Amino acid sequence: MTPATEPARPVDLQVVRSQFPILGRKMNGQPLVFLDSAASSQKPVSVLEAMDQYYLTTHANVHRGVYQLSQEATEAFEQARRAVQGFINAASDKEIIFTRGATEGINLVASSFGRQFFKPGDEIVLSRLEHHSNIVPWQLIAEQTGAKVRVAPISPDGELLLEEWEKLLNERTKMVAVAHVSNSLGSIFPVEQLIAKAHERDIPVLLDGAQAIPHLPVDVQALDVDFYVFSAHKMYGPTGIGALYGKEKWLDAMPPYHGGGEMIRNVTFEKTTYNDLPFKFEAGTPDMAGAVGLEAAIRFMEGIGLDTIRLHDKTLLDYATEKLLSVPQLRIFGNALQKTGAVSFLVGNHHPYDVGALLDQQGIAVRTGHHCTQPLMDWYGIPGTVRASFGIYNNLEDIDRLVAGVERAARMLG
Ligand code: PMP
Repeated sequence: MTPATEPARPVDLQVVRSQFPILGRKMNGQPLVFLDSAASSQKPVSVLEAMDQYYLTTHANVHRGVYQLSQEATEAFEQARRAVQGFINAASDKEIIFTRGATEGINLVASSFGRQFFKPGDEIVLSRLEHHSNIVPWQLIAEQTGAKVRVAPISPDGELLLEEWEKLLNERTKMVAVAHVSNSLGSIFPVEQLIAKAHERDIPVLLDGAQAIPHLPVDVQALDVDFYVFSAHKMYGPTGIGALYGKEKWLDAMPPYHGGGEMIRNVTFEKTTYNDLPFKFEAGTPDMAGAVGLEAAIRFMEGIGLDTIRLHDKTLLDYATEKLLSVPQLRIFGNALQKTGAVSFLVGNHHPYDVGALLDQQGIAVRTGHHCTQPLMDWYGIPGTVRASFGIYNNLEDIDRLVAGVERAARMLG
């Protein structure tokens, strides 16, 4: 399933870090340690320059102009689409819809697929650890169509209980929608098995790839997944843009999500007909500079190598797990065998906000709270966790600073 990439080699962290000037900043008088990439990664200079160049030399509205500049802007935008297609190995660029991000991608599928295919009593199967973005859109369409949301259990370690999950599938199941990687626990779900099992029953699968795309090679054809969504801003790209992959057979059968310019073929007050894919789902002027930035982010990741990125993340995760567990009374939430990107923890009975605030005083940026996974936190019976999450620019020194910072915070909190 892995697209051909360069063999994994150690990252030259000095070179990588030099491309992220923000990492040179001080916070509260201390050099910044940025450990919140799961919320949003930092951006390399190459991404910012690509977007600047687009605005400085190529900008005009796309798909409409007969003049050269508009055609160049259109070509830049469509080239970005082909870059996304190549990055996730989609069969056709018609299957790549630009969105504002993972959230919009899931809303699009829930709304459009749901309106077309859900009937009262139909079921949508999620898992307990989903991000609110992969819960609420399904609840909204369930309310409108009379379908029901069902929730697959996970183990306390954060593994999907495959056998229990399979028992939820039946002839009423019209969609399975789960995270590829959990944002709160870092678990990598066994998506190959899950998709194969769902397809045995002709059930389509949507994967929320928001946390997988910055860390794992993704090949939508090898996965045979029906829908895949992600955001550029978590993979070194700009905010405000992301992509939805959908199999052409589904996208063709689904009604438009937003109405407006670009998505139409012909409009009269009596009847409007719709454009071909992918434009049917892209109403209005798109984020061209964002698409160019997303392409530059893809080139940045490919330049380092997906296998190298994976190896570096594993080094950070293993080191952080080992060191954090040496802190007295520290509990890690999420101990799946396959993990990537993040480590979530609590220290004694200290509230995660208190630990986070004391880390901030030491220049260390982590996320605290429920991480938009309230049902998961309720199930654990905790208000939230402290989450340290990694990017390609983090080094072992960042982890040492985190661990020393947590020890200090714990001492101060008593
Ligand atoms: N799903 C997961 C697993 C996420 O981590 C996030 C972002 N925290 C989202 C969906 C939503 O992404 P965005 O806010 O970029 O649309």
